[in-house]
Amino acid sequence: MLRFAPSPTGDMHIGNLRVAIINYIVAMQKKEGFLVRIEDTDKARNIEGKDEEILEILKKFSLHDNGTFYQSKNLHIHQGLAIKLLDEKKAFVCTCSPEELEAQREQAKDQKRAYRYSGICEHKSEEEIKALKESGTPFVVRLKKPSKNITFTDAIKGKFSFAPNEVDSFVILREDSTPTYNFACACDDMLMDIDMIIRGEDHISNTPKQIHIKRMLGFDKETVYAHLPIILNSKNKKMSKRDDASSVKWLFEQGFLPDAILNYLLLLGNKTPTEVFTLPEAVTWFDLDNISKGAAKFDLDKLRFLNRKHFERMDDKLLSSLFGFSDAELGKLAKLYLEEASTLSELEPKIKAIFAPKDFGGEWGGSMRVIADIIDKAPYFEAYNDFKDHISQTANLKGKELFKPLRLLLTGAEHGPELKEIYTYIKPYIKDLTV
Ligand code: GLU
Repeated sequence: MLRFAPSPTGDMHIGNLRVAIINYIVAMQKKEGFLVRIEDTDKARNIEGKDEEILEILKKFSLHDNGTFYQSKNLHIHQGLAIKLLDEKKAFVCTCSPEELEAQREQAKDQKRAYRYSGICEHKSEEEIKALKESGTPFVVRLKKPSKNITFTDAIKGKFSFAPNEVDSFVILREDSTPTYNFACACDDMLMDIDMIIRGEDHISNTPKQIHIKRMLGFDKETVYAHLPIILNSKNKKMSKRDDASSVKWLFEQGFLPDAILNYLLLLGNKTPTEVFTLPEAVTWFDLDNISKGAAKFDLDKLRFLNRKHFERMDDKLLSSLFGFSDAELGKLAKLYLEEASTLSELEPKIKAIFAPKDFGGEWGGSMRVIADIIDKAPYFEAYNDFKDHISQTANLKGKELFKPLRLLLTGAEHGPELKEIYTYIKPYIKDLTV
């Protein structure tokens, strides 16, 4: 069973979307379930509506899940499991105050060593703990650090080994008795029987903690981990919220197609048999072994290229409907413009301008008016050359004097694809275009 576990704390990042896509593909290949778990236990960081937004985005990419779960619904289970660990003396109550811990952190920093929990509360007697609880002293629950190294082999990055001190005796239940991220995540992975976890490499340091939690809870089934390398921006820094293109919502607003975004994210740092492909195609050949260990650099131009490719592949009628038309020929018309436009937002004004009322006020306005009157009275011409010759002869215009105003009249723009090609698709509407 695989899962995608987003936190509803902001706009969906392309790195997260890549994680979702790859989990989905591997689930399809293994013929296993793909679950979505909204990790909403950190109430202070949750943003209202982001969960819905994430689910909508997954739908747009056709990443259909076999169930959506909200982590907060499992709160009592997480607490129950923490109590079980306390009872079994695998976890302990810690009453160190945030100030004390902060002072120890500062001290470690001054001494240029990594901060580790002092272990002071681990050996408190039953009586001491009872007295503390009765006195209402705030406490957290910590899991005892492991007794030996935690090792795992990542499917992408290879072998890792973490010493007990690196894992440390970490907090699993906070003062308000809510579970920490690592605890809730590990408990739920165990409860949902997740045996393969694919996520971003920023989680590598959480992995030994989560393995330790699951072991302490008696879950000894092997989990395969695959940590995907980060995505870098043009300055070789990790793509962050500050990079517009890191937001899936922004990419949609710019007019990028889900198929192109998905294609691009699967191409990043990967060896693929073809450059342009769809999700069902990727399911047939995707292999984690082909993902490179190193970070991949985001390239907006490449995404623009793929967007054009997916527009070219798009069903004509569907493309036409994106502009509010139903005639498939207008989809073909839009495809002519892919020489000069890559996204829906670039394409749309060009197509809309063809059907919008024309501006007869400029330098070429006079000739445009003359040509418009001729077109209004002219019969239907199947061939562009006959249409053009008729106007040329009737108006007595040729060369630039003919083509400049004719283009402006038919397309609302000074430049664009060959008029001859455009004519193929607009000829049924020709009299409506010259107003
Ligand atoms: N909620 C975590 C995140 O969004 C999930 C990490 C994981 O997949 O375990 O980064």
